Amino acid sequence: MINKLTLKEVDLSGLKVFIRVDFNVPLDAEGLVADDSRIKATLPTINYCQQRGARMVLASHMGRPKGKIIPELSLKPVADRLSQLLGEEVIMAPDCIGPSVEKLINGLEESGILLLENLRFHPEEELNDSPFARQLAGQSDLYINDAFGAAHRAHASTVGITKFVPRAVAGFLLEKEVEQLSRILTKPEHPFTAIIGGAKVSTKLDLLESFISLVDNLILCGGMVYTFLLAQGISIGTSLIEEDKVEPARSILLKAQQQGRKISLPSDFVVAKSLSAESPKKVVSREEIPDTWMGVDIGPRSIEEFSRIIKASQTVVWNGPPGVFEIKPFAEGTLAIARSLTDSRGTTVVGGGDTVAAVHKAGVSDKITHISTGGGACLEFLAGKSLPGIEALTDKNRG
Ligand code: AMP
Repeated sequence: MINKLTLKEVDLSGLKVFIRVDFNVPLDAEGLVADDSRIKATLPTINYCQQRGARMVLASHMGRPKGKIIPELSLKPVADRLSQLLGEEVIMAPDCIGPSVEKLINGLEESGILLLENLRFHPEEELNDSPFARQLAGQSDLYINDAFGAAHRAHASTVGITKFVPRAVAGFLLEKEVEQLSRILTKPEHPFTAIIGGAKVSTKLDLLESFISLVDNLILCGGMVYTFLLAQGISIGTSLIEEDKVEPARSILLKAQQQGRKISLPSDFVVAKSLSAESPKKVVSREEIPDTWMGVDIGPRSIEEFSRIIKASQTVVWNGPPGVFEIKPFAEGTLAIARSLTDSRGTTVVGGGDTVAAVHKAGVSDKITHISTGGGACLEFLAGKSLPGIEALTDKNRG
C-alpha cells in the first residue's frame, strides 16, 4: 500500500480535486491522438470521482517542450479524445496556472472536468519550483496522483504540489501499477524469467543488477546483447555496442554465474548490412556474425529456445524488444516473443514504451497479466528504486 489514506476512503462530494495524470500520448500526422491507452488507463479514477460529484482539474505533461510553449504539444487533442471516451464535455484550459485558469476552476460545476494545458510549457514544472507548485495546488481539497509514468520524476506536479494540498492519495492506476510490480519483486512464483532487451545496456544495468538475485532465468537480447557477446570475446561485426559497458556486462555475467542463475543469450541472429528494410539479411549462429554485418534480430533457434523457457515459467517479465521491430523484416523475433508470453500459464508483465508497442503490434495485449503504463518509471521500480512521486504521497514526506 502506498499510503494509509486511499482514494476510496475520501468523501469526494463537492471537493475540488487535482488529478495528475499521464496523458503523454503519441499524436499522428494530423495532430490527433494515435494511441489512447494511457488516457483509457485513467478512466477508472476519473469515472469514480465524477460519479461522486467531485470537481476535477486534470494535469499532465506531453513531450519535451523544455519550458516553452510549443503549439504542437498542446493537450487539446487529448481533451477532445477524453471527452469522446467519457461522453461528457472536458473543458480545455489555456494554461496550467494564472487568473484565467483560476476562473475556469472556480466556475466548474459538480462532476465537471477541466484539463490544464501542458505543464512543461513552464520551466518551473521540471525544476520542482515551490511557488509554481503552490499555484498549481490552488484551492484544491485533494491531490490524486494517477501518473505512474511520471512517478520517477521529482517535478512540481508530482512532488512539490503535495506540500500545498490538505490531502494526497494515489489514483487507481498508480495503485494497480504499484501492486502488480511489487508482487513481482516481493513474491514472484517460480520459475521466474526476465527477458531484457532493447537498445542500450546503460539504461538497463540497474534492472539487471536487481533481477540477478530474483530470477531463475535471465534472457538477454536486443541491441544491448552485443556488448555482452563482446564481453565474452565473441565478434559482433557492426552491431550496436557500448564500449564502456563491456566491463559492467562481464561483471553481470560473472555475478549470475556465482549466484547460480541461468543466463540465456541468443544462439543465432538475423544479421543485415544496414538498418534498412531493403538491406540484404541472413541468419547466422552466434559465433559467425560477419565483420561487415550487424545483428538486427534473434534467429529462429533462439526464438524456439526462449519460447521454451517462457512457456515453462510461472512469472515472466519482459522489457526491451529483441530486434529492431520497427523495421518489418527485423520484427519476427520480437513478435514471436510477444506471442510466446501468451503460452505461459503464469503471471506475465510487460513494461517499457517500445515493448508495450510490440505487444500491441502482435495483437496479444489482452492476454498479458499486466502492461505497465510507465517506461522509465517501470524500469526504476523494478530495479528496486523508490519513486519520488510515490514517496511524496506518504504523510511523513508531505510535512
Ligand atoms: P529500449 O527503449 O531500451 O527498450 O530500446 C528499444 C529499441 O531497441 C527499439 O527501438 C529497437 O529498435 C531497439 N533494438 C532492438 N534490437 C536492436 C538491435 N539489434 N540493434 C539496434 N537496436 C535494437
